[in-house]
Amino acid sequence: MSNLLLTGGTVIPVTGDGRIYDPGEVAIGGSEILSVGPPGDAQARGWQPDRVIRAEGKLVLPGFINSHTHAAMSLFRGYGDDLPLQEWLEEKIWPMEEKLTADAVYWGTMLAIAEMLRCGVTTFADMYFFPEAIAQAVTETGIRASIAPGLVGTRSDSAANLRSAIRFCSEWDGGASGRITTMLGPHAPYTCPPDFLQAVLTAARELEVGIHIHLAETRVEVKNIGEKYGLSPIAYLFAQNCEDIHILAAHCVHVDGPDIDMLAAGKVHVSHNPGSNLKLASGIAPLPQLLEKGVPVALGTDGASSNNNLDLLEEARLAALIHKGYTGRPTVVAAQKALEMATIEGAAALKLAGQCGCLQPGLKADVILLNREQPHMYPKVNPLSGLIYSARSSDVELVIVNGEIVLENGQYCTLDLEKVMYMAERTSKELLGL
Ligand SMILES: [Zn+2]
Repeated sequence: MSNLLLTGGTVIPVTGDGRIYDPGEVAIGGSEILSVGPPGDAQARGWQPDRVIRAEGKLVLPGFINSHTHAAMSLFRGYGDDLPLQEWLEEKIWPMEEKLTADAVYWGTMLAIAEMLRCGVTTFADMYFFPEAIAQAVTETGIRASIAPGLVGTRSDSAANLRSAIRFCSEWDGGASGRITTMLGPHAPYTCPPDFLQAVLTAARELEVGIHIHLAETRVEVKNIGEKYGLSPIAYLFAQNCEDIHILAAHCVHVDGPDIDMLAAGKVHVSHNPGSNLKLASGIAPLPQLLEKGVPVALGTDGASSNNNLDLLEEARLAALIHKGYTGRPTVVAAQKALEMATIEGAAALKLAGQCGCLQPGLKADVILLNREQPHMYPKVNPLSGLIYSARSSDVELVIVNGEIVLENGQYCTLDLEKVMYMAERTSKELLGL
């Protein structure tokens, strides 16, 4: 932990006022941002850095926040492609997940973290099995994560799994110097009957954690929940009395007007996953309508086996582009909104508002630098437009989480990439029987 100064770059703080410092500086003391302003600002007040990083020609912004993924599913990348969701899930993924071990989840998560850090993702929301293995990978690599043990309510061991999840949350919430927070992860309405969902909500209430759930992802889900309960998936969730619980809902693709009103009134944070929704042909979420009604929306990649990468900048561009084409309105999801969804809205969705997601004094120092000195970023007319419409995640050069440099000039400081890729490859092939 030391005093770090990033100076001379184009600083995009994402603080909601559209302000950009060009040039600007970010002063970091220990794990926190001390100041954001024009160059020389911090030192003029008598503060001295231990290290100065020159950022001329770089964009300096808050790290991206991936608000929905299953990190260890990177082990199944490329397996069972080009299938509809239910078939992909029931015939390909679920049988493989039966074979998972803590060790496999650890190496799959390490691979995912390596990929996310290189793409400038400093925080992710995970929903998966063997949460202790996920927590171990997060602890070692220095990334920030909200970990939700995945819960299915239709199995004989569902109650025992819920008890383990409760134990995980009480042991790990605030772990790894505060970089780990927890939620409970009831998988979806179609795998969580009312009694089970209510038990999960009761536990979330007692633990004071949120829930992370898949909601209204496909037409099949809407049809099945409608036939079984006479309700939409959104109405089904609200019928379990969840108004006081922080809800992170992935997808919300098939929602109508009353559903959107319920999401807005319930302050549900939606994780929009355009890449996964397109790949699984689930559909296109009504993002403009959600935003117009004031529903807070963040961005997620979903697992690498339905995307097939964990590149949040790509999701930001997709979100900015597909809704323009789909609605015929070029004004929907402007670059500023896409960036907010990738950063500050992600923090809010993970219950981390006021802790990270923007560059502001007192917040945790999760900062990334992108190289602008490249042909696809010239001329340097509009940094926001350049970031959302022209930049590539491979432009990310430096990643800082909690004040610590975890990636510099493309090199990892906290993980051995060669070993991670070797072990992930070996683990994946063992699981898939290759
Ligand atoms: Zn998912």
